[in-house]
Amino acid sequence: MKGYGFYKYGGIEAMQEIEIPDPEAGEGEILVKVKYASINRLDLLVRSGYHGLKLEMPHFPGTDVVGEVINTGKNVNGIGKGDLVVANTLFGCGKCSRCSSGHESLCPDWKVIGLHTNGSYANIVKVPASAVLPTPSGYSIEELSAMPLSLSVSWRAISLASEQRGKTLVVRGASGNVGIYSIMLARAMEMNVIALTRNPDKAALLESIGADRVILTTEGEDAVIKEVKEAGGADLIIEVSGSTLGYSVRMAKEGGIIALFGTIGGTESAVNIPSLYLKSTTIAGMHNADKSDLSKALTFAKENGIKPKIAKVFPISDVKEAQAAFESSKYFGKILLRH
Ligand SMILES: [Zn+2]
Repeated sequence: MKGYGFYKYGGIEAMQEIEIPDPEAGEGEILVKVKYASINRLDLLVRSGYHGLKLEMPHFPGTDVVGEVINTGKNVNGIGKGDLVVANTLFGCGKCSRCSSGHESLCPDWKVIGLHTNGSYANIVKVPASAVLPTPSGYSIEELSAMPLSLSVSWRAISLASEQRGKTLVVRGASGNVGIYSIMLARAMEMNVIALTRNPDKAALLESIGADRVILTTEGEDAVIKEVKEAGGADLIIEVSGSTLGYSVRMAKEGGIIALFGTIGGTESAVNIPSLYLKSTTIAGMHNADKSDLSKALTFAKENGIKPKIAKVFPISDVKEAQAAFESSKYFGKILLRH
């Protein structure tokens, strides 16, 4: 297997071309040959040694895995060589009650492709057969390679609300890929969508994919809260910043839900407790999606004509430039790496 990865944690300079022997598919595992990797923020966190991560080196990041099965291990049923598959980005132990009931993200031993295991920055990826779905029709491999993580997480966050139609969704970090998919899904569900971004250049793009209103966070959080409240308050808030949790609590309306799954802005936030319980607000932590979320999200996306926004495809040899482009936030949509 070959691709780009790192031998030690660091910045972009740590990324280098690597070729090592192909992995062997163990019991219940398959090997998938991929044509594309997509860049997610997680790749940069892994490269820099996220939360004291101890990985076997070298390591290949790359969480989105879509491709052709080229080998299967023992006890793999229903999947064979030549099949095209898309992997959920998270998988569990496969043995516990959470895994057997389809809640892998609650498995005490959950793992994420490209984080705990080698991912699609290598051209061959080993994954459990239980983590994959057949690729849906109607999308190219390039398009599908831009979908699993951002789409499934967006779907799960929006699914935290018991009903969507007519409800107001506030999306923080709206110009990021979870933000973009969340807006497209919510629009198709007839939600009222308020997109929050710090980037004025992205406002028109956010409206073009379905945001009813775009609020610039550079106006200050008090101004943002005022505008959201004037719009009736938020039924559901996608909170990826972390440090703004306290403000999200203030903009939630009665019975509102905050889907909390990011710390882009920081890991601490002061929350006014009465503002939380007097409105019966729910803060729902989540860290990833289950395979069932990915399956439902792909079906919904296809039925509603939702296509991924692909900003640029770089040859994987330009991985450093591509990661720098991702960090610069100048693009709108997914950045792919082509093997
Ligand atoms: Zn498990």
